[in-house]
Amino acid sequence: MTQPIFMVGARGAGKTTVGSVLAKALGYKFVDTDLHLLRTSGLSVADIVDREGWAGFRLREAETLKAICSPLTVIATGGGVVLSAENRDFMREAGTVIYLRSPASTLANRLEDAPQEDQRPTLTGKPITEEMREVLNEREALYQQAAHHVVDGTQDPALVVNSILDALALPLAR
Ligand code: ADP
Ligand code: MG
Repeated sequence: MTQPIFMVGARGAGKTTVGSVLAKALGYKFVDTDLHLLRTSGLSVADIVDREGWAGFRLREAETLKAICSPLTVIATGGGVVLSAENRDFMREAGTVIYLRSPASTLANRLEDAPQEDQRPTLTGKPITEEMREVLNEREALYQQAAHHVVDGTQDPALVVNSILDALALPLAR
């Protein structure tokens, strides 16, 4: 299997952390869509949202997803990538999609512990646990729809990677 692997999940799900460990384990390249956007446009997610709004950011995100899609690559996507049906279909067709699933409280704790690693502005300006609960309410079904495999993201990153490797060995449930 050489198709790209897309990591999806909310902010704090471990897409970057787990995705890069997974890439090492498989001998794949690792690409982060937000970082790619920053490198190619010189703009952070916050900059783009400031100038172009979330709609402008979503357009650029869809383009980026296609631009970085290549074989032997683990791709960490942005948390909202699944909001677009086009993005969900594109990822499912082009590769294998992994949903890193954790409860809102876990995501909120991680984001509070390491706010500097999260380059994304908040969506609502509400307290973080409440925001993550709302985000999951809105997106849980979409993450599930997009994903070929749903993986428990609450364990240690190395164990999460093992679960993903196990899932990848299974035939794809389409
Ligand atoms: P994402 O890219 O999905 O937003 P990150 O990989 O940046 O998430 O992780 C967010 C924070 O949570 C980081 O501080 C990271 O170290 C921590 N983290 C990620 N995955 C795990 C995990 N499985 N267990 C514990 N902490 C984690
Ligand atoms: Mg990330």
